[in-house]
Amino acid sequence: MKLIVIGGVAGGTSAAAKAKRVNPDLEITLFERSNQVSFAPCGLPYVIGGEISNFHKLIARTPQDFAQTGIEALTQHEVLSVDYPNRVLEVRNHREGQTFKASFDKLLIATGASALRPRIPGVDLENIFTLRNIADGEAIQKAILEAYNRSSTPKAVIVGGGYIGLEMAEAFQKRGLQVTVIEQLPRLLGNVDPDTAALTLTEVKRHGVEVLVSEQVKGFSGNGRVQKVLTSQGELEADLVLLAAGVRPNSSLAASFGVNLTPFGSVEVNQQLETNLPGVYAAGDVTEVHHLVSGRHAYIPLGNTANHQGRVAGTNIGGGHSSFPGVVGTAISKVFDVAVGLTGLSELDAFQLGLEAKAISINTSDHASYFPDHRPIMVRLVFETKTARLLGAQIVGHGDAVKRIDVVASLLHRAGTLEDLANLNLAYAPPFSSVWDPLQIAANAALR
Ligand code: FAD
Repeated sequence: MKLIVIGGVAGGTSAAAKAKRVNPDLEITLFERSNQVSFAPCGLPYVIGGEISNFHKLIARTPQDFAQTGIEALTQHEVLSVDYPNRVLEVRNHREGQTFKASFDKLLIATGASALRPRIPGVDLENIFTLRNIADGEAIQKAILEAYNRSSTPKAVIVGGGYIGLEMAEAFQKRGLQVTVIEQLPRLLGNVDPDTAALTLTEVKRHGVEVLVSEQVKGFSGNGRVQKVLTSQGELEADLVLLAAGVRPNSSLAASFGVNLTPFGSVEVNQQLETNLPGVYAAGDVTEVHHLVSGRHAYIPLGNTANHQGRVAGTNIGGGHSSFPGVVGTAISKVFDVAVGLTGLSELDAFQLGLEAKAISINTSDHASYFPDHRPIMVRLVFETKTARLLGAQIVGHGDAVKRIDVVASLLHRAGTLEDLANLNLAYAPPFSSVWDPLQIAANAALR
């Protein structure tokens, strides 16, 4: 039996590897249109910022590594079209400039997502970047070096104050650039509540980054290369611009041969990650997910989900049985010296869904206040008023202390309540926590 995987990053490679382990007789070919497979996009900002020495460190497995496990992984190979009734697809080998056909019994669509490039005037000027893969990262690195030939303090403008925009603000600032973030919403990190966003804003500004909220980018101007960003409020000088204004699923290939899409445009899958076409599966950023707290479909494109979905799809393709029930939207991000963690719904999300919800925020220390190096931590819990069911949480603190967001995420998977959180037996020793964990301080405050 032949499996073809389209797309060679998180969803595609984890599915291919798992399918091969489950069914070693499966003939697997993976086509990837860029020149890298199996790399970690999540590490790109840290290479650009200099914390990781080079982009090659982000590559988990090469085509040669895949070959050793019996998987053929071909880079610079783009799938152009799929003839589903005849189980044949057309592939362009960009390296050799040839087009050929390949047959399949099962197909996995892991075509991911692309960064949005709004069609506004001047958007195609040089030095206006998006960041999605190693080639993008290398282009940004090169532009930074060139900008230093023109100015001693080059200016970077980031369009979008989500987590990628803020990780890149830090990266640019570490490289000595003067950084401005422009966000059209009234706050940074659109998926958290205003309290959490306000703490994030303070941290970003504390590091000298200018933040313009409630401001829209209308266009760019320059002489071949971008020189100015034109906004709803005025204009700013720029040596380089990063567009970090969200992503869109790469679903047009899937749609072209009859795969159903959601209204948002992502690929619709069942819990086994099979599409409406038997034998055609999808995983990763190209798909929708079921949100276990809201009970609705959601588009939350993240690497942990893509890997998890790839594993589930690979198991089923290989002949095993696995399902992917959904996500609770757990994420964590480093914003300069703090970390921001979130899971479930924000209070704003809950209101928009018509839930009767409340939120409470507490400020305390991340470990015993008498122990050296304890640091502030903010915990915000969102809960349903009548049932005290937990709906979500947000944490702003330092380092691994914020990973306790996972405790709330676990409870959300089981529809846990504030009382469940208050009654958990959580680890305590002064270097790690206070005797009442910050999460339980928040749960008890909410219960009161
Ligand atoms: P993609 O990574 O988009 O890969 C899809 C691949 O398919 C692409 O390489 C594309 O070239 C290829 N492809 C598309 N169409 C075709 C075709 N027709 N033929 C052949 N190949 C095709 N997530 C987290 O959970 N935590 C983080 O901290 C985090 N940080 C991030 C930081 C950055 C800067 C970025 C860009 C992303 C980050 N993410 C993070 C998100 C995470 O990287 C993605 O969720 C993950 O890469 C999705 O994997 P994927 O395989 O679904 O899609």
